[in-house]
Amino acid sequence: METTTITLPAATISGHAHRSATTATSTPIHNAATGALIGWQEQATADQIDKAVREAHKALPSWRTTSPATRAKLLKKIAELIEADRARLAAMQMQVSGKPPFEANLDVSDAAATFDYYAGLCAEAAAFTPETLKLPDDTVTGERFYEAVGVAALIVPWNFPMVTTAWKIAPALAAGCTVVLKPSEFTSPVEHMLAQIIAEAGVPDGVVNLVNGGGAVGAQLTAHPLIDKISFTGSTASGRKVMQAAAQDMKRVTLELGGKSALIVRADADIERAVSLAVGGAFTNAGQMCSATARILVHDDVYRKFMAAFETAVRAIQVAPPAEDVVMGPLVSAAQRERVQALLAQGVEAGASVAFSGQLDPACGDGFFMAPVVVAEPAVDNVLWTDEVFGPVACVKSFRTDEEAIALANDTRYGLVATVVTADQDAARRYKTQLRAGLVWINTPQLIFPQVCWGGLGLSGIGRELGLAGLRSYQELRHALTDAA
Ligand code: NAD
Repeated sequence: METTTITLPAATISGHAHRSATTATSTPIHNAATGALIGWQEQATADQIDKAVREAHKALPSWRTTSPATRAKLLKKIAELIEADRARLAAMQMQVSGKPPFEANLDVSDAAATFDYYAGLCAEAAAFTPETLKLPDDTVTGERFYEAVGVAALIVPWNFPMVTTAWKIAPALAAGCTVVLKPSEFTSPVEHMLAQIIAEAGVPDGVVNLVNGGGAVGAQLTAHPLIDKISFTGSTASGRKVMQAAAQDMKRVTLELGGKSALIVRADADIERAVSLAVGGAFTNAGQMCSATARILVHDDVYRKFMAAFETAVRAIQVAPPAEDVVMGPLVSAAQRERVQALLAQGVEAGASVAFSGQLDPACGDGFFMAPVVVAEPAVDNVLWTDEVFGPVACVKSFRTDEEAIALANDTRYGLVATVVTADQDAARRYKTQLRAGLVWINTPQLIFPQVCWGGLGLSGIGRELGLAGLRSYQELRHALTDAA
């Protein structure tokens, strides 16, 4: 029995909730772990989207001229309030997405760490201090400086709602941008809580605004002429549309898109560690990760040993509603589960064979659960090997040489991440440089730090989030030359 009934307004603009005149366009919010309807989200109208952008535009001159020190204090306060509200934020993520407690808590930690990191960059102030240039002509002085891009549209998906949002809002605010956020229509309660926390921290009205809705609302937002910058995380298909919309006014874009990443197990790998990294890389968040390393390449010499240990580990994964010790939760929606199961069926129909699967706990009931599945030796043109599944399906393929492993790993138009498991440091160096991926993990789980930039090559997107580059993506680089006389 659910206890919470959520009703989310169509928009929050300058600190005020804006309701919709009709419920006809509202979308349901489900508890992914039980399937139960737990609320409704109203959809923003074209007028509300326009108002949100105009309010952000109105708030810009004053916000972009606040000192980095002032912004540092506010960002720090947001990080502290997120930590203080950990229990409620984690509970909401468990309720909406069905994430196990340890994953829901990791998301809270990640969001808080991101605000904390950008608070630090603002406090240091170096990233905002004009730099004097060395020029070959001493009759002029040159200066390089950075300025907030302007009003940013921030559009995020449902898989790590609070985290993806923090990765955008924190650097945008640090840079002096004002924003209009459009959360995913499936998981927006978490972002509404985050928006309240940001207001509570003392961020002025109009600096952070939120509009609810799906792709149509996102498209209207990206087309608005007063938007200067779009930061989008989502599928490559939607990313293309966003980039086309941005082209009209030359809006700046950051695109964090899909992936089809590899995990490589060399013959010298510690197999226990390789299995643990494979389970984490393929089945964390029920495989709904842009960074899922669901193409697992294993050296022939250790293939049988790896598969035996992997099978034991996958069969032991507890798939259940959120509770201590649960390792894997449900997919976000019934539609997402259908999509993943249809892709799996398509791959099997085309000749891929399932080597083994995990199992569902009886407590899974009507939640949107799916047991983890491992496919062995699919053909290189099988859809399960080539396409992003975004669910708990991993493929394993054997290789004989490093050259073959690198060629197989790079045989994709995506290029987000990769993992290598090896005891050989020289080999690790070769893989690090030859794998086409924005981030390579060597013998580590998928560690993410706000100091380390995130983003991919090819179809995985354009630009970087996090780190100094994440801040710079919300700034315009400018120069001035002055007569020195
Ligand atoms: P999606 O593209 O369907 O939607 C993402 C967001 O964009 C949602 O808020 C949606 O409402 C909005 N949207 C959809 N069409 C739009 C349009 N034409 N204009 C503007 N906004 C639009 O993706 P999804 O199903 O929500 O998320 C899964 C995808 O996100 C996967 O492909 C995954 O790889 C990707 N993803 C990437 C990263 C990364 O950092 N690279 C992180 C998480 C998810």
